[in-house]
Amino acid sequence: MIWKVLFLLVTIIRGDWKFIVQVFNLVRCSSGNLVCWLCDATNGILNGSLANSYTNTDGDWVKHICENVPWDSEPAFARLLFFVLLLFIAIDLMHIWHLGVGRDVCGSTLKYLILKPGYFAGRNHKEKLHSASKAVKEFAKERGLPLSAAGKKLTKAKLQWGGYPHLKLKAADVATYTQFLAHLSVTKSFGNDDLSTAVWAIDQAISVFMRGGMFLNAEQMDYARAMGLVFLRCWLKLAAVALRAKEKMYKVRPKIHLLQHCFLGHRRSCRNPGVDVVFMDEDWIKSMARLSKHTHKKTMALRTIQRYLAGLKQELRRFLKKQTA
Ligand SMILES: [Zn+2]
Repeated sequence: MIWKVLFLLVTIIRGDWKFIVQVFNLVRCSSGNLVCWLCDATNGILNGSLANSYTNTDGDWVKHICENVPWDSEPAFARLLFFVLLLFIAIDLMHIWHLGVGRDVCGSTLKYLILKPGYFAGRNHKEKLHSASKAVKEFAKERGLPLSAAGKKLTKAKLQWGGYPHLKLKAADVATYTQFLAHLSVTKSFGNDDLSTAVWAIDQAISVFMRGGMFLNAEQMDYARAMGLVFLRCWLKLAAVALRAKEKMYKVRPKIHLLQHCFLGHRRSCRNPGVDVVFMDEDWIKSMARLSKHTHKKTMALRTIQRYLAGLKQELRRFLKKQTA
């Protein structure tokens, strides 16, 4: 008999920013003076200067990657075998882009286009929202893209119309809306070059990550970096103009800084950040939560693992049977 021994090794830890802050005891986080676990970027003005702010895409922070530890108390994870700060913590594009900056980009762009006379058919905002919904529905159907029932009907509430626009839809819907708006940016002029360029460029950059394999080649990395930086410069310019005009548009949040790290490839690896999205992890957690509901609270952890392993064994048997049939 041949014995095979499996060793489990943690190679990457991923989750939303809040989770990363909690498990790594991070003092550098979106609400702190220093905003990022990877670099020295500041959250706005620090010591009277904006030079190192995360909104400064050419700030000095780009030269100081992982020079200081981002916690004041060493987390248990940092004692794992082969732990390297730069490589161990993944930047999860789903929370950073699809449920963060992407929602801002889609929200502000849609509001701008609804307010632009004659862009979408209709006599009032409600009718224009209906026209936009119809157009995105047709776009998704033609290309076989996912769109939930909520995504098929735009409303002012879903766009958070009164505040900074933020398209409050599922991550998959935001991906479809991004592609839809990028398509519009080249087929029907926005009348705002910075906005149309920003939308087109970010769709190009995200597409490299989402369609690429486990590793990106030099050409893909260069393209994502170039398109990502074009997006950042246009978006930050739009935000600065809106801020001066006291308009609530083109929100800039710290997540945009982590997006820049993805574009710059600061994790010093050609590993595609697109493979670190947690779409499947979130589905798995939901199914585990459902499973644990059927266990007693005192033995929940053990029973959930046992039930999961029993199910996994069955799935593997079914898979092997299918393979050998
Ligand atoms: Zn940083």
